[in-house]
Amino acid sequence: MSCETIQPLITGYLDGELSADQQTELDAHLAQCEQCRRDLEELRQLKDNLAGMSFREPGDEELDRYWQGVYNRLERGTGWVLLSIGAICLLSFGAFMLVERVVRDPDVAWIVKIGVTALIIGAVVLFVSLLRERLAVRKTDRYAKEIKR
Ligand SMILES: [Zn+2]
Repeated sequence: MSCETIQPLITGYLDGELSADQQTELDAHLAQCEQCRRDLEELRQLKDNLAGMSFREPGDEELDRYWQGVYNRLERGTGWVLLSIGAICLLSFGAFMLVERVVRDPDVAWIVKIGVTALIIGAVVLFVSLLRERLAVRKTDRYAKEIKR
């Protein structure tokens, strides 16, 4: 078995992907080849360094920032939901009262009644739609950020 054919087995060994037969071949070669033993050691250290880089423990500062971020998201998410509910309730109620008053008033021309009703319903629909869009954008932002991580 030459050193060239053993090379893939070395990387396979480091990735933990060798079959029992391949492991035996590799062990046999390493026992009598110093160069490949050295290669294996170098690759193992390189791999450990890489692993250390991506899986290092998050420091206190990073954890603080993480929890701060979670708290901010929760806080703002809750704020938006409450604001939406409040705005929708008040707007709907106000619009309903106004429409009812105008429609019931015998002095107001029917064309004005239709106009006011349409205007207010339109405004409420637009406002709700804008709020929903705003909330949808927030969700997309969050999704995009998590993808980047
Ligand atoms: Zn060798």
